[in-house]
Amino acid sequence: MHILVCGGAGYVGSHTAYTLAQHGHEVTVLDNLSTGHRRAVRWGPLIEADLLKPESLDAAFAHPVDAVMHFAAKSLVGESVADPYEYYQHNVAGSINLLRAMRHHRVQRIVFSSTAAIFGLPSSLPIDEDHPKSPINPYGASKWMVERILADAASAYGLRSVCLRYFNAAGAAAQAGIGESHMPETHLIPNILKSALGEGTALRVFGDDYPTMDGTCVRDYVHVLDLANAHVRALEFMQTHDGAHCFNLGNGTGFSVLQAIEAVRSICGVPVAYEHAPRRPGDPAALVASSRKAREILGWSPQQCDLEQIVASAWDWHRDPAY
Ligand code: UDP
Repeated sequence: MHILVCGGAGYVGSHTAYTLAQHGHEVTVLDNLSTGHRRAVRWGPLIEADLLKPESLDAAFAHPVDAVMHFAAKSLVGESVADPYEYYQHNVAGSINLLRAMRHHRVQRIVFSSTAAIFGLPSSLPIDEDHPKSPINPYGASKWMVERILADAASAYGLRSVCLRYFNAAGAAAQAGIGESHMPETHLIPNILKSALGEGTALRVFGDDYPTMDGTCVRDYVHVLDLANAHVRALEFMQTHDGAHCFNLGNGTGFSVLQAIEAVRSICGVPVAYEHAPRRPGDPAALVASSRKAREILGWSPQQCDLEQIVASAWDWHRDPAY
């Protein structure tokens, strides 16, 4: 199939473009390069276009598209709290522009990047698809709005969609020349690795009084290539299923911030300096996925479940990043 990967110069988008190409699909990347990397676009042409400039989108549909994968979004919780207009504009209005362009060009299938942030402060763990949605920041709210729009579009226009709700994406495909590189870097595992390499500012551990095993936040880290694989499964699923569907994607095991630091120390064999800092606003104490539905219905089974494996692949990238 020919897949248009919106946001394919970014972290999860580039790893999915790579995985799609490995499965024999043809890839075109659409990206405005605001946070993505030109050097991460290696498996098909890049069309520089912006979801907020609808007239720029037609070029991406010049060659018939079988399905769209939509990663293009702003994704920093703190920034979304400080500037909600920007988040709703880019993530919601931008998605509507893309969906309109798809409708105009008669493209009827989309896989959408969603997030555990739609659940807000979870009332129970692990979090399955039916858990109440009550996002506590504009980032999570914007993603949940798009999920709702896709459900409405299924009834109104017959659009087929799969929303994949990532828990904590981590790891890299350094062998393919791609990895995680954000500016600024706010994510835990890259920040721990930078501390191990003696780069950047001192690592801060946000909060030590959460009701968890060691007082630090617990997250479900999932390898980015396992997430990418779920997109290929979702594409296959949409061949035979209409309507709007959603799946939670994680390994089902939670690790605390201190456990992640220990995993890096043991893989890299160097001490990791860190200091304790106050809680980061908007951080739930623990997020752990139930991915039973993805396993049963998509046949998804993550291959790199172990935190040390995930950290080792991120380390391969961070030691010698290509961008
Ligand atoms: N975190 C931290 N120091 C950092 C970055 C993150 O202590 O430099 C914590 C953060 O408070 C959260 C966890 O690590 O509890 C994962 O944060 P990240 O930003 O990687 O992902 P999120 O869970 O926000 O999507």
